[in-house]
Amino acid sequence: MSFATQVKQSLCRINLKKDCCRRALLYGILLFAVDFDENRIRFITESDASSELTMKLLYDLYRIEGNLYVTEKKQTDEFGEVQKSHKITVSARADVKKLLFKLGYENGMNPGINRSLFTCENCRVSFLRGAFLSAGLITDPEHSYHLEIPVREDRIAQELIEMLEEAEVSAKLGSRKGQRMVYIKSSEQIETFLGYIGASEAFFEIMNQRIVKDALNNANRIRNCDTANLSKTVSASKTHTDAINELIKTGRLELLPPELKETALLRLEYPELSIKDFGLMFEPPISKSGVNHRLKKIMDFAQTK
Ligand SMILES: [Zn+2]
Repeated sequence: MSFATQVKQSLCRINLKKDCCRRALLYGILLFAVDFDENRIRFITESDASSELTMKLLYDLYRIEGNLYVTEKKQTDEFGEVQKSHKITVSARADVKKLLFKLGYENGMNPGINRSLFTCENCRVSFLRGAFLSAGLITDPEHSYHLEIPVREDRIAQELIEMLEEAEVSAKLGSRKGQRMVYIKSSEQIETFLGYIGASEAFFEIMNQRIVKDALNNANRIRNCDTANLSKTVSASKTHTDAINELIKTGRLELLPPELKETALLRLEYPELSIKDFGLMFEPPISKSGVNHRLKKIMDFAQTK
């Protein structure tokens, strides 16, 4: 599963209680889908969770049954898994008309991003999450930092950039092969965006990798410092954070006793600290051997599958 698909799968697990937010989420998915006009509405994704969620929202909110086609791609991904393409189409005239009407796109009217659909504080968060689920691309942070959302119209692109600015994310308008897109380049901005739309697991993963990368760069720069010790701290820290992220991803973090869970989450917050300094972050502080003992238990637990 690609990094982008992983992020999307985790976003689909977020449970929305309010109908206004669920509508805003579906609106984000549909507005940034491949087709969104009076002829048809068509959404294509590699993520089975996104496809399931979209089908469910269409039915729950508007009693519309989308047509779902799943095809297997010829190429496998980097882990040898078969990739699938899920294509959801709404093409029955009455259904398309009903959806466009409900979303404020009546008789050729084009409200850009129709903000009148956002009724509570969280609606815009859901909408941006939907936009990312629909069309968002993100590179694996281990290789580079780049996030983009392809957009069909300039007006929507501009309004998307404005909405992102309001969320303190600075994005730019670009194009590739004639396709317009809104993109975010810096790691901090990508983190802010992912945090905003609720992709905190992915957010932590990016953050840890950046901290480890920075620490390794520093270790190379500082010649008079004890670089060997720092590298040791960094590699131990990377082992910890990898294991903890894996526990979060598989939902096993919840199985840990409270004090180990607290230690794991705190370690993600302070991966760069030595064991001794990390111990001081607890309330009350705990000793180096106490910290080592807890981390060892977490690592042992992570290894038993
Ligand atoms: Zn809402």
